[in-house]
Amino acid sequence: MSNSPLICYSRISPNRNSPRSGKIKGIAIHCMAGQLSVETCGNVFAPSSRQASSNYGIGPDGRIGMYVEEKDRSWCTSTSLDNYLVTIEVASDPKAPYAVTDAAYEALIRLCADICKRNGIKALKWEANKSLAGNWDRQNMVVHRWFNLQKSCPGDYLYSRHGDIANRVNMLLATGSGGSGNTTYCGKGIGEALCLSSDGMEVRTQARVSAGSVGHVNPGQKVEVLQLLKTGWMKIVWPGDPRGYAYTSNVGGKYWKYTEYARKVIAHGVVTNLKANDRLRVRTGPGTEYPLLPEWPYLANGNEVDILDVVTAKDGSAWLEIRIAGKYIGCVASWYVKTTTIG
Ligand SMILES: [Zn+2]
Repeated sequence: MSNSPLICYSRISPNRNSPRSGKIKGIAIHCMAGQLSVETCGNVFAPSSRQASSNYGIGPDGRIGMYVEEKDRSWCTSTSLDNYLVTIEVASDPKAPYAVTDAAYEALIRLCADICKRNGIKALKWEANKSLAGNWDRQNMVVHRWFNLQKSCPGDYLYSRHGDIANRVNMLLATGSGGSGNTTYCGKGIGEALCLSSDGMEVRTQARVSAGSVGHVNPGQKVEVLQLLKTGWMKIVWPGDPRGYAYTSNVGGKYWKYTEYARKVIAHGVVTNLKANDRLRVRTGPGTEYPLLPEWPYLANGNEVDILDVVTAKDGSAWLEIRIAGKYIGCVASWYVKTTTIG
């Protein structure tokens, strides 16, 4: 049995059973209730009087430490299911909802994917259902609050994201990339798509059926969508491609069920300041180096848009992330859009 190659620190705690009595079948994510570094967390678990430990810990900077080897059982989740679980303590705020940093969250996803890959866990499954704890085929994520009613661990921040964690980890696993791969676009999508096709769907390098396949998604599995193309294809997050994205067909809307993420509109805007007959270029990112948005490349004076975010281009100028027709998301230079703040 191996340990994660992602660790950069280890201090083995005496608080453990060696070896564990069960095969690793799932993961339990905990919150530290403090923004502790991996070293400080190691100090906490070091005295035997503490009677507690975890297999891994993640600091607010995203560094990963190990306190109990995977071959051993940690004392973490207040249940003998720890014999089957790899336990992870994540640095969090000291009070509810026990939010974690983005760096810690991203490290958690990579660590979970790595644990699954090395231990032959094909996918993380989460139904938020205590009665399924130990029913590993249905649900292999377990939370501390089910076994110690005094604890809200892992806190509402991480608890409410267990479905997202499972999806993100499963995308990494689907590519065979385990904890590696290009995760640049993870969490940056406009929506998600659930695979409806009973045969599953191919994921390809380009938006056409003749392009090479980079993976296969099984029915019932979800992917994160970056862009809906006019042709009916979707550009999706795909860490297994070196670019971090790939394409899959949803021509006719019958292969995937697409659900747009709710985006907060921070203001409305009207295109202005263009010279007569000029058009405003809508780009896929903030800066003139990005290509035009294929679905809606130009806007004219008087066109109305939703403003989703203010973003900075490479040259330091302010751009706006906008939504056109309630649907197409792109970026434009901010000085051509007059904004109206909304409540
Ligand atoms: Zn806990």
